[in-house]
Amino acid sequence: MSLTLTFWGTRGSIPTPGASTVRYGGNTPCVELRTDEGWLIILDAGTGIRELGRALLERGDGDSVAGDIFLTHAHWDHIQGIPFFAPLFKKGNRFTIWGSRSLQTSIDRVVRDQMSPVVFPVSFEELEARIDFQELSEEKRAGRGYEVSAIAVRHPGGALGYRFTTGNADGRALVYVSDNELSAEARYEDAPGWRGKLVEFVRGASVLVHDSMYTSSEYRSFVGWGHSTHDQAVELAIDADVERLVLFHHRPERSDDEVDRCLERCRALVARRGRALEVVAAAEGMTLQV
Ligand SMILES: [Zn+2]
Ligand SMILES: [Zn+2]
Repeated sequence: MSLTLTFWGTRGSIPTPGASTVRYGGNTPCVELRTDEGWLIILDAGTGIRELGRALLERGDGDSVAGDIFLTHAHWDHIQGIPFFAPLFKKGNRFTIWGSRSLQTSIDRVVRDQMSPVVFPVSFEELEARIDFQELSEEKRAGRGYEVSAIAVRHPGGALGYRFTTGNADGRALVYVSDNELSAEARYEDAPGWRGKLVEFVRGASVLVHDSMYTSSEYRSFVGWGHSTHDQAVELAIDADVERLVLFHHRPERSDDEVDRCLERCRALVARRGRALEVVAAAEGMTLQV
């Protein structure tokens, strides 16, 4: 039993098309997760979901498409692809959109409002697919061929991190934390011991996909903006005995060559710690087995 992960959007904050970002990709966060039985789970709905939607319709050969869409939070870069996700325009398709109960506005409202006539030509009501909304907080739920649990992470306005398993005894897990500020310098309304709780949530994951927006020197100018450094993601992965860390939510300004250099520095840090952690950088089109 396993889960299969494919990256459709890896960039943080805003899409970044251009020659310097073609290798790792310029679309905002969207990750496809498949269970053994082929059930579709989508993590975040940034601009990467547009290409995923095209692929689903092509592969499906006219069959209906169904799946669960888990949003970490409602910042633009995580929802802006929804109005361009072609399967939503087809009758017979069916999706459940999951989002945090603790957002200032319900996830239902946020998704509908981004298609209000002031800012978008097609209204939510014109979508032909059946779309259900579900809210969740820190809890464990059983889905079709998978189990998911959620944790509140440190991000302005709040965000969730997710842990997915097949629900079997093998214990192999994917943890997805797209936006999270690991530095203790930043102030959030979290209880003492938040880092230990996060480490336990991530503990033993086969794959950890984590926010790696800044270098350590860049971070000085962005304390409180809700994101982590590459080194902090590595330290979390080491503390939680993760097998493979995927650097994610690349800074918009970061060129492919710079991502290469960040990756090299992460691998050097792991070597200095004497650990076996594997580190890769998320790239559009990359597929991993959990
Ligand atoms: Zn983001
Ligand atoms: Zn965000």
